Amino acid sequence: MSTQTKDFYKILGVSEKADQDEIRKAYRRLAKKHHPDANQGDDKAAERFKEIGEAYAVLSKPERRKQYDQMRKYGAFGMGGGARSGPRRPSSGPGAGAGGFGTDSQSFSFDDLGGLGDIFSSIFDRGRRPGEGARREGSARKGQDIELSAEISFDLSVRGGRLNLKVPVTEACATCGGNGARPGTRLDRCQECGGKGVVSFGQGGFAVNRPCPACAGRGRIPGDPCPSCRGSGSVRQTRTLQVKVPAGVESGDRLRISGQGERGDNGGPPGDIILTFQVKSHHFFRREGLDVHVTVPINMAQAALGSKIRVRTVHGKHVVLKVPPGTQSGTRFRIRGQGVTKGNRTGDQFVEVKVEIPSSMSDEERTAFEAFAETAALKH
Ligand SMILES: [Zn+2]
Ligand SMILES: [Zn+2]
Repeated sequence: MSTQTKDFYKILGVSEKADQDEIRKAYRRLAKKHHPDANQGDDKAAERFKEIGEAYAVLSKPERRKQYDQMRKYGAFGMGGGARSGPRRPSSGPGAGAGGFGTDSQSFSFDDLGGLGDIFSSIFDRGRRPGEGARREGSARKGQDIELSAEISFDLSVRGGRLNLKVPVTEACATCGGNGARPGTRLDRCQECGGKGVVSFGQGGFAVNRPCPACAGRGRIPGDPCPSCRGSGSVRQTRTLQVKVPAGVESGDRLRISGQGERGDNGGPPGDIILTFQVKSHHFFRREGLDVHVTVPINMAQAALGSKIRVRTVHGKHVVLKVPPGTQSGTRFRIRGQGVTKGNRTGDQFVEVKVEIPSSMSDEERTAFEAFAETAALKH
C-alpha cells in the first residue's frame, strides 16, 4: 500500500503558518499566472494550474487543512516514494473530496471523516491486523474471525459438555478449486488493474491503493466463470462444529476456537471463531457469580417444629438440609461447596426457605389450627 502526498504549502509558496488570507492571495496570484488560457499549449502550466487548485482546495478549508497537516505530521510524506500517482479527480468545485477511499469492507469519504484517526486506521493499519487489510497479490493473509453467539442451557453452562455449533463460513468452491474458472478453462489477466490486483485512487493530494474490485485483488479473472460459484471462487456454507463448553461458563463469556474461522488467502492461516455464550435462565436455580441461589417452600409445622428437607444442587445431587425449630420465612442457609465450579474455584449454594401459609385446609387441619389459636391466645 503506498501513500503519496504533495506539499501543498510549497505549491502555493506559503509557509505552514500562513493564514487564510495569505493562502487566498497566493492562490489567486498563481492561478492567474498558470491559467491555461494564458499559457496556450503549455502542458506544464496546465499541470501546475491543476496542482495549485488541489492545494487551494485543501488549504482553504480549515477542516481539511487540519487533516492534511496531521497527515504531514504523521509522516505520510515520502511513504512509497516514487510510487505511481493514482487517477486524480478534480479537486476544486463542489465535487472535490466527495469521492471515497474504498477498502474491503468500508468506504470512507474525505469530507465525512470526523478525525484523522479514522483515516490512519484505514490507510496505515490495514493489513497489519489479522483478517483485515487490502489484499496484495500473492501475500499470505490470515482469514477473518467469525463472531458467533450460542444460547446454552443452564445445566450445560454449569457442568460443561459438548455443543453442536452451526458456523456460516465461506469455503473454497469445490467445483473450481477456488480459482473461479469453469474446470478446464483458463484465467485471464484482469483488464481493470492490468493484473496487479490493486488499483489506486487519488484524493485530496494523496493516492491510496486498494484491492481491485473487478478481480477481488487476484489480478486474474476467469474467462469462463465456474457455474457453481459464478466466478467468485468461494461459496457460503454452514459447517457444524462440535464445541467443548467448559464447566462454569456464564452469559457473556467468550471462547476463542482457533483456526475455525474464515479461510486465509494465499496460504495464510484461517481465522478463529469467537463464541459468546448466552445462558438460559433456570426455573429453580439462580446464579450469582459462582454461588447458586434457590428458594424452597416449607410448611408452618416444618418451620415451627424443625425438619430435614432435601434440596437439589446444580450438580444433580440432593443434599439434606436441617431446618431448625422456629425458622422464620426468608431465612437463608448456606450449603458449602455446592455452587458452580469454574477453574479451581467453587461457589456455595444458598437456600432461602419460604414458609407457606395454607390458603385452604382440610377439616382436620382447621381443627388443629383452632386448637393452636386457643393455646396461643392463652399466652397473651
Ligand atoms: Zn467455483
Ligand atoms: Zn483486477
